[in-house]
Amino acid sequence: MSPPPELIESILAKWGSCTPGPEHAKHHVAIVGAGVSGLVAARILQLHGHGVTLFEREGSPTARFQGGTLDIHSETGQVALELAGLTKEFRALARPEGEEMRIVDKHATTHHADDPSPSAAGDACLRDRPEVDRGQLRQILLDSLEAGTVEWGSSVKSAEAAEGGAKVRLLFEPGSPSAQKHAHKLFDAIVGADGTWSHIRTVLSPATPAYTGALSIELSIRDVDTRYPDLATLIGQGTLHALDDGKALVAQRNSGGNIRVYAFLRESLAWVEGTGIAHMTPNDASAYLRTHVYADWSPRLLALLDASAECASDAERYPVRPLFQLASPHAWPTFPGGRITIVGDAAHVTFPNGAGANLAMLDGAEVALAIASARDGTALEGKIAEFEKGMMVRGAESAEQADMMKNNFIFPDGGAKAAVELFKKFVD
Ligand SMILES: Cc1cc2nc3c(=O)[nH]c(=O)nc-3n(C[C@H](O)[C@H](O)[C@H](O)COP(=O)(O)OP(=O)(O)OC[C@H]3O[C@@H](n4cnc5c(N)ncnc54)[C@H](O)[C@@H]3O)c2cc1C
Repeated sequence: MSPPPELIESILAKWGSCTPGPEHAKHHVAIVGAGVSGLVAARILQLHGHGVTLFEREGSPTARFQGGTLDIHSETGQVALELAGLTKEFRALARPEGEEMRIVDKHATTHHADDPSPSAAGDACLRDRPEVDRGQLRQILLDSLEAGTVEWGSSVKSAEAAEGGAKVRLLFEPGSPSAQKHAHKLFDAIVGADGTWSHIRTVLSPATPAYTGALSIELSIRDVDTRYPDLATLIGQGTLHALDDGKALVAQRNSGGNIRVYAFLRESLAWVEGTGIAHMTPNDASAYLRTHVYADWSPRLLALLDASAECASDAERYPVRPLFQLASPHAWPTFPGGRITIVGDAAHVTFPNGAGANLAMLDGAEVALAIASARDGTALEGKIAEFEKGMMVRGAESAEQADMMKNNFIFPDGGAKAAVELFKKFVD
């Protein structure tokens, strides 16, 4: 479980000295969005002695459940954590056994199962992509920041150049606490890490995410090992992918015996509206999925829906997330002076391909090093242009992978068999 040292060295060598001194300016950077990309960027800038204020729309660190588990890849996410000096903290929480993957069809017939035994070196289960809960990862990053770095409840509307391009400022939504406090504050650079519906992106590019034609419905099961031992056995220590008929049920083991279940469906936005599934009680939503969507699936798999309903209160609603993507390649001319840029999903959101958060973290790390390494304002434009060029290449590769994933998982002819072939291709 470690990122390749030569990769770390080449990234550090690429950006060079990052520490402010007599001949090297200290930059004050505004970051918009406390997702993984924004938090990694903030941490690395602070590590090198630069000033950061991070503006987050959510009211507090606990305002929203952060979602299921993430596998952290050795060549991207782990590199970012190493550059952020947080490998030890990550390792303390990472679950290498969580990498285990099983692929079944709607009859619960196995098409692929990693061998989780320690003697299975070389098996696909040893991809060096240990899992960590999203909430835990976010907390590691938040804890690493200087006190008061994050301005919670700050909804950013846009950004613009100031002082003839020598500085930049943020514009806030009316009523946002930062609207008064930071309205006139000037920054050396702004990083938009504000996700799929980025407001900062609109300053750089006219691109808008389009509906992929697929959505996810998120369910969860608590205490699986004691309450639902049959499901615990079916899922194993990692992720179970049940794929058939252009639909998926994906069950991911999180820490503490919690299971996150994603129902991926190829349905229109009108279907969401028409069924009203987002407003149903968990009992009704599970029953609807059981009867109308997964009617001929194995009872062993349908038990995931029943257990999720049992674990939820009547007041809860399953989050329904239509999935959007940016057309690829997504490129834009570097902002004059290089003082405004975007990272992560704001720059290259795709259909979920298991790499988005990892790339977002690497973007966050690299943009921080790019800004930190600019000796003065005039050097910033070249550094940001170089950073964006590399990120655009990564983003386009990821979009290509995401399309393959979408087509082999849930689009015409997708299913367990096609997914196994695709995974084999990735592993080879
Ligand atoms: C169903 C699903 C499963 C996925 N599974 C995986 C996986 O297994 N592995 C993986 O690597 N990736 C996965 N991804 C992708 C991953 O979630 C994203 O790529 C990643 O979260 C992007 O990080 P980010 O920091 O760029 O943006 P986000 O995580 O979206 O963070 C953006 C932040 O900006 C804030 N914000 C937004 N607008 C504003 C504003 N106007 N003002 C202030 N703040 C604002 C938001 O509140 C949020 O905190 C999955 C995605 C989905 C949808």
